[in-house]
Amino acid sequence: NGGLRVTHSAAAFTTWDRASFPFVQDKCLVIPCAFVTHFGKCIDEKTPLLRSMDAVTVSGLRLLKAIGIGTDAKAMCSYLGWEQEFFVISADHYKARPDLVNCGRTLFGKLPTRHQQGDLNYFQPIPGKVQELQLHFFDLLDIAQAEMLKVGCPMAVKHNEVAPGQHEMSPVFRTANVSCDSNVLFMEVMNREAQKLGLQAPPVALAGNRVLFHEKPFAGINGSGKHANWSIGTDTGMNFFYPGKNEAGAKLYVTAIACLAYGLAQYNEMVRCTVASAGNDHRLGQGFEQFMESIISGEDLLGYKAEKKKQSTGCSAAMHIEAPVEDRNRTAPFPFCGNRFEFRAVGSSQNCCFPVMVCNAIMSAGMAHLASLVEGGKSHRDAVAEIFKENKHVIFTGNGYSSEWPIEASKRGLPNLNTTPKAIATWTSEKNKKLLESLKIYTMEETEARQEVMYENYISSMCCEVETMIQMTETGILPACAKDLEKYKGFDKLAGSRKSVYEAIVEQLEKLKASFSAKPHSSLTEEAVFLCDTVKPQMVALRAAVDKAESLLESGLNVRSGQLELQAAVYDAESRQVEFLGSSKKQAELLADEYDSWEPDLSRSGFSGLSVDSIDRDSSAPRASSQRLLAKLREGNQRFLGGATWNKAMQRCAVPIGAVLACGDMGAPVDVIFDVEPGEIFVMRNAGNTCTHSAGSIMGSFEFSVEKFNVPLILILGHTPCAALAGAVEAHRDDEDRPSPVLLESLVAAAAQAEQQLGEGASNSQLVRRAAKLNVFHTMETILSQSRLLQLLVRQRQLDIQGAIFHKATGKVDFLGRLPHEDQLLLP
Ligand code: ADP
Ligand code: MG
Repeated sequence: NGGLRVTHSAAAFTTWDRASFPFVQDKCLVIPCAFVTHFGKCIDEKTPLLRSMDAVTVSGLRLLKAIGIGTDAKAMCSYLGWEQEFFVISADHYKARPDLVNCGRTLFGKLPTRHQQGDLNYFQPIPGKVQELQLHFFDLLDIAQAEMLKVGCPMAVKHNEVAPGQHEMSPVFRTANVSCDSNVLFMEVMNREAQKLGLQAPPVALAGNRVLFHEKPFAGINGSGKHANWSIGTDTGMNFFYPGKNEAGAKLYVTAIACLAYGLAQYNEMVRCTVASAGNDHRLGQGFEQFMESIISGEDLLGYKAEKKKQSTGCSAAMHIEAPVEDRNRTAPFPFCGNRFEFRAVGSSQNCCFPVMVCNAIMSAGMAHLASLVEGGKSHRDAVAEIFKENKHVIFTGNGYSSEWPIEASKRGLPNLNTTPKAIATWTSEKNKKLLESLKIYTMEETEARQEVMYENYISSMCCEVETMIQMTETGILPACAKDLEKYKGFDKLAGSRKSVYEAIVEQLEKLKASFSAKPHSSLTEEAVFLCDTVKPQMVALRAAVDKAESLLESGLNVRSGQLELQAAVYDAESRQVEFLGSSKKQAELLADEYDSWEPDLSRSGFSGLSVDSIDRDSSAPRASSQRLLAKLREGNQRFLGGATWNKAMQRCAVPIGAVLACGDMGAPVDVIFDVEPGEIFVMRNAGNTCTHSAGSIMGSFEFSVEKFNVPLILILGHTPCAALAGAVEAHRDDEDRPSPVLLESLVAAAAQAEQQLGEGASNSQLVRRAAKLNVFHTMETILSQSRLLQLLVRQRQLDIQGAIFHKATGKVDFLGRLPHEDQLLLP
């Protein structure tokens, strides 16, 4: 609050901005507000904007009266149409980056070998991540558009931007305050909808997406802006910046440009200040002139027309194009766009109020100045010519990105405030304070408070970045370098420059820490300047060192261990062929690194590897690779196609007559141990033949089998010796606190009950046998107590739920019958 809302008089109030309509969002009435202190001082972005809109009305009507154009106008409006640029990335990626989470931008990371060299992203289809939702034909941008319409903001444009993952959207322009509100709302809506998008459509991205509004989230590729398309006009519909179809319109246009030139030239630094922020520091960097010269040398105000030109495309199939009046100079920070000016330097994360407020302020200053010249006796023409003569140096229609322009600009006496602290320092100049006070936009005190707020924003962003950088280097980057170097022990030649490159990181890190700890605390100004001039170059140096190392680090350091492959296949009942689909395209993305440091102990019993070739699957045999296993499955399917007995039997294609839930490691196919026809039983298997959740797939599958195939029997089949229950017994008896597969947790209850029944002296294998039986009953109980459908059918005696145990050693199945206390569970 810059000292305007000190703690001992901290009251502040919201008050309805009556020029911005309320709307309903999520069943809540939202009322756009201004926010002022107990003493009416503004501590928000909105109040100064509203005051500046009043200033435009006062100066604008005064000007119109003086020059005798549009004198029937009773009020003036200022308009804004923002173009919001942003990046969309998956939330998994986002959360894996402390720099993105804390600072909104990446503090490290070298450019990938393929980035935006081709600049073709503009023309790509809007990519899947942004486009896919559960409905598939809606995309994030469409959803945002629909959501914005619900709150009364029609969107006009949506398209890809230059950088990969970058997009832009803009609304139909409206009065400035309403439009500023809708921009803030839009940013909220985007993030909300992006997050939902992932959540609702797994496995697209389980944790949703994130929208980045930072000006430069990724070094080396395009940043994001928020072009503020701004204009002013009368309540009678005259746009001051439209070159005009009639004489009055043409004159007004030339007059308005003179006023704007005055404002921009006289208050150049003020305009610069409105877009000064730590984030934006990473990003910023015809015809009319000739016409203006002729006015200065005595010609009439008329002659500059809104002429659209026909341009040939040079081929007969494509139509001629109609080129508008504007030249759309994309290299200018403030280009003319045919009926408006586009303040292109606004940062993508900014609130538009401040920059638009200053546009209104400097325009009001220009209009008041011109009016006073005319009121003082000058002719309209001479007043415009005089203003152009004095201020024409701010008008430039050449290439603003060229290396000549900064030289030319300094010749013209234009300030070059290339950093935020330099810009902020100019904010409280006497000239600025006086202007803002005379326009009743800011009191002197409010102007000063704003400066303090700007400094504080800058300092806190910079400090957060430095601290994040230090922490990331110490806790992530250096350990990765150490791991990588370790691999080259005894291979000095192969290690190449790794050691020195990695050590350079430490050197730069220490320098950064030293310079950061030398930060002065004397004044905000000094602190900001120090961060900008001394600390920031060191941040750049550390980043360069880390980015250099990145290209040497083994890529595996960032990838999961690869001990397990997750692949997909589809079995086609008609061709009886299995089509192998490979692993998920999203695999790399989905492998979050939460458990990177935890290595599963594959030697523990119950999780021993299996060898593909040995028939009795001896647990001491070496573990087969996933590729060999896949090959085995492929070959097996070929044999099956070639006429294995089952294949022939399957032609009879039985409808299942019963459903069985069995364990995954039972050692024999369920169909085989019961000697039934293929397909005669609806078989489900999981480790420990368990069913713990009512919403889980097992429960749902039982309900389905009953509904669809009308099966009269559900059999829960446990077995001995069961590896899953062996694991559960171990987990139960092991008091060490290490992560165990979630499944075991649900089986531990059976292990605990077995121990209770058999006593603590019982051996593990005794417990496992007893637990296998108890677990069968547990599963039956869960099914009965949690599925209302199955319970109803059992009660009506249309369905029987029974248990059994298969003994692998003998091949015998013991039938356990119904749940002993089934009747109690069935009580209504
Ligand atoms: P560009 O071609 O620069 O990308 P867009 O079409 O994306 O431009 O966006 C232009 C924005 O300017 C839209 O929000 C549009 O409503 C707005 N706009 C058009 N005319 C005016 C005007 N007179 N005053 C303010 N904004 C305007
Ligand atoms: Mg655009």
